[in-house]
Amino acid sequence: MSAPNDTRFLTQLYIDGHWVDGALGRTIAVVNPATGTCLANVAAGTLPDVERAVACAARAFRTWRHTTGAERATYLRAIAAEVDVRRERLVMLQSLNNGKPQAEAHMDVDDVIATFSYYAQMAEQLDDISGAEVGIPGIGHRARILREPAGVAALIVPWNFPMVTTAWKLAPALAAGCTVVLKPSEITPLPELELASVIASAGLPAGVFNAVTGTGADVGAPLVAHPGVAKISFTGSTSVGQTVMKTATDTLKGVSLELGGKSSIIVFDDADLDLAIDLVEAGGFFNSGQMCSATSRVLVARALLPTLLARLVERAERIVVGDPFAPDVRMGPLVSRAQFDRVRGHIEQGIADGARLVTGGGRPAGAPEQGFFIAPTIFTDVPTMSALWRDEIFGPVLCVRAFDTEEQAVDMANDSDYGLVASVVTADEARGERVARALAAGVVWVNTPQLIYPQTSWGGFKRSSIGRELGPFGLAAFQEIKQVLTRRQAS
Ligand code: NAD
Repeated sequence: MSAPNDTRFLTQLYIDGHWVDGALGRTIAVVNPATGTCLANVAAGTLPDVERAVACAARAFRTWRHTTGAERATYLRAIAAEVDVRRERLVMLQSLNNGKPQAEAHMDVDDVIATFSYYAQMAEQLDDISGAEVGIPGIGHRARILREPAGVAALIVPWNFPMVTTAWKLAPALAAGCTVVLKPSEITPLPELELASVIASAGLPAGVFNAVTGTGADVGAPLVAHPGVAKISFTGSTSVGQTVMKTATDTLKGVSLELGGKSSIIVFDDADLDLAIDLVEAGGFFNSGQMCSATSRVLVARALLPTLLARLVERAERIVVGDPFAPDVRMGPLVSRAQFDRVRGHIEQGIADGARLVTGGGRPAGAPEQGFFIAPTIFTDVPTMSALWRDEIFGPVLCVRAFDTEEQAVDMANDSDYGLVASVVTADEARGERVARALAAGVVWVNTPQLIYPQTSWGGFKRSSIGRELGPFGLAAFQEIKQVLTRRQAS
C-alpha cells in the first residue's frame, strides 16, 4: 500500500450519536511524522464539550446498564467485524499518523479484533455469573454477588498504540455495561476517529460511546475532575498518571493506570542465539522503540556478550528505516518532533555520562529529511545511575550490559522504579521458571516474542501500573460488586 490520495479525514468530536465541532471552534494540527507536514486540523474539545459528553453518557447509562450481557455482546461482535471490514483504512491511518510500518499496523488491527471478540464472550458469560448464589453457612439466608457497571467511564489513551490501548479499555467497559467518553491522544487522533466511526456504525444507543479529542489540559484533566465520571482508565506517562491519581482523590473515583516502563531482556549463556537476537531486536526496535514494554536493558551472560553484541549491531544496521508505506521498511519515524528531540536529548546525555555508543544515535542515512527518524541505537558501558539506564527513553535505543550470575541478572533487572515486563531467553526450563518468579514485573515472556492475548492480563508492578487490564481483571475494573443477602422465607 502507498500513502493515500484520499485525505478526507474525520476531524470532529463524536457526542451523543453525532459528529460535531468543538464548542469553542478550536482545532489542533495533526502532523505526518514521516514528512513533518500537516495532515489535518482536528477539533480541540474544551470544558463545554466534556460537560456535554459526560451528561449524555450519564443519561445513556440509565438504560444501557439494564441491557443484558448477550445484547452488549452483539454490539461488540459487530464492532470486531467492522474493524476487519475497514482494516486497510485503519492500517493506512496508523501508518500515516503514527508512522507505523504496514505490518505492525496490521498487528494492531488484529489485536483490536481479538479484544472486542474476547469481551463479547465475557459479556455473555456475565449473564450467568452476575447474581449467582454463593455458599454461606446455615440455611437461613441466601447470598448473591452482583457485578454491576461502574457508571460513566473516561478512557484516556496515549499515541503509541492508539487503537490497541483504546480497545483494551473500551471493549471491557461496554461489556460491563458502562457508558464511555474516550479521550484520544491529540497527537494521533486520525486512527482513533476512524475507530470511533466503526463503533458508531455498530448502532449503539446515542450517548453510550462518545469521543472528545483535544489536549490533556482541556479534555483529560476536566474528565478526571468531573463528578459525573465514576471511573478513569488512563494509559500514558507515569508523571501524568500521578497527576490523574491526585486529581481523582477529590471525587474519590475508581482509577486504573497503565504507565511507563524500563524493562529488561535477560539472555543466558545457554540461549538459542538466533532466537535471542530476534527477541532483543523486536523488544528494542518494534514501533521504533516507542513501547511501554520495550526491553531496552539487554542483560547478557558475560561469555556470550562479544558474539551477541556483534550480531546485534549487524542486525540493527540492516534495519531499513524510512517511509512506513514502503514495503521494505521495517522501522518508521518517531511520532513527533517533541519525541524526536526528547530521544536525541537522552542519547546526547548518555554520551556525556560516559556511555559508549556502538551504533546509531542520529538520523539514518537515506531517511526522508523532514521526518522524525532516528537510527536503531545501541549503547554499552552505560553507568547504572545514568538517565539512559534508569529512565524510559521511548525510542529505538538499547543499553547492553554483561552479568555473571543468575542472581545478579535478576537484581539488575529489578533495580528499577518500574516493573512492567521482562523477557528471559534460556534453554533451561527450570531456570526460566525460577527467574520468571523472581522478576518484579507484571508480565514475563520466556523464550517468546512479546505476544499479548486478551484472555490473560496486562499491567505491572511498582510505578508501572495501578490495576490490570485484559482478561477478567480488565472487566472487573469497570464493575462495582454488590452483595445481596436475603432472609429465606419460612416455607
Ligand atoms: P502522556 O501521559 O503524555 O499522555 C497520555 C494521555 O493523557 C494523552 O491523551 C494526553 O492528552 C492525556 N493527558 C495529558 N495530561 C493530562 C492530564 N493532566 N489529565 C488527564 N489527561 C492528560 O503519554 P504519551 O506521551 O501519550 O504516551 C507515552 C507514555 O504512555 C509512555 O510513558 C508509555 O510507557 C505509556 N504507555 C503505557 C502503556 C501501558 O500499558 N503501561 C501502554 C502504552 C503507553
